[in-house]
Amino acid sequence: MLKNQLTGSKLKLSDLAERVAGQPMFQLLQEAQALERKGKNIIHFELGDPDFDTPKNISNAAIRAIQEGYTHYAPSAGIHEFKLAIQETTLKSRNFKPSLPQILVTPGGNPVIFLAIACSANPGDEVIIPDPGFPTYFSAINTCGAKAVSVQLHEKNNFELQAEDVINAITEKTKLIIINSPSNPTGACMDPDQINLIAEYAIKNNIYLLSDEIYSRLILGDEDFYSPGYIDECNKNIIILNGFSKAFAMTGWRLGVAIGPEHIIEKMNLMLNTIVSCVPPFIQYAGIEALEGDQSEIINMRRKYQKRRDIFVSGLNQVRGISCKMPRGAMYAFLNITQTNLSSDQFSQKCLHEAMVAILPGSCFGIYGEGFARVTFANSSENIQEGINRLKAIFGSK
Ligand code: PMP
Repeated sequence: MLKNQLTGSKLKLSDLAERVAGQPMFQLLQEAQALERKGKNIIHFELGDPDFDTPKNISNAAIRAIQEGYTHYAPSAGIHEFKLAIQETTLKSRNFKPSLPQILVTPGGNPVIFLAIACSANPGDEVIIPDPGFPTYFSAINTCGAKAVSVQLHEKNNFELQAEDVINAITEKTKLIIINSPSNPTGACMDPDQINLIAEYAIKNNIYLLSDEIYSRLILGDEDFYSPGYIDECNKNIIILNGFSKAFAMTGWRLGVAIGPEHIIEKMNLMLNTIVSCVPPFIQYAGIEALEGDQSEIINMRRKYQKRRDIFVSGLNQVRGISCKMPRGAMYAFLNITQTNLSSDQFSQKCLHEAMVAILPGSCFGIYGEGFARVTFANSSENIQEGINRLKAIFGSK
């Protein structure tokens, strides 16, 4: 049945279903794959999916767990041993030890975003987000009927979220603030003082703060990672999102974690077990190995990301019409493309169809993403170099 024939009929979808937008990056991937099926050779810079295999010790831990029979339902909030490993890792990395009921194991980082919003914001409430920001924030907020309030990240501030801008955006209706450092899509790392100011303001004004720390192990400079979690030890306002997809090259495993106040984690758990029951136990055993096992491959991957970033940024800055700041974390560079005189969608389409390079338009990341585009360096140095050459062939060199 055609979509417009459904209008007014009982088969019309719910308002909630109509509001869901999903992740636009998958659309570009599909478009690129359609070209590949026609025999085109595409270089992929669109999805933040590491080209590295999951380290062997992690995969082997899952295989062992399957062979040992860990193939049944698991406790919906996570298996005990994994939660103990998360406790210890949090103590080492963030200076506090959450209680076990403060920890929720999730199938990836994305569900934490949805669950935190669904459990904190009513329809009509406001959620403050960095813009440009990760598209799931927009989709999850809209789906829940809440209102996304964009706080602009400025290139002149290296895209670092400023506490003053966040505080100015707060109203009576603000229920949740989301911060993301290192950031997708800009690669910016927030100044710890700015994080503290936001956290303290949130605590004083009874606003939840979701700190999306999925790139915490992918700081590419000398600085240390900084989390607001220790301020209230995730007991009152602060919720931490973390995940295994990026730093451990485990995107397909679907493993993430939320650490937050017990009362909200309890509800997030009920919501999660309504939808997925639990995260497979053998995946969680792989998570224990990721946290506690040999870290040499993880360190090695980070070094490679640093090297690739340097090649990418210096190459991009040689392409006519493009300029690009040095990202300090995550796996993305955010290009200013205003000098090409193309909209970010036109730029992305030109890159895909003329240069055979898949690059996401900044418009995927919010209203302030226009004029920009995002590339990921989750691809080999050779492909990055080839991609730059193709862009130079289309746009020219400086
Ligand atoms: N937060 C941010 C900022 C991300 O970039 C991503 C993944 N691209 C996620 C959360 C979700 O990660 P996962 O793949 O583990 O669901």
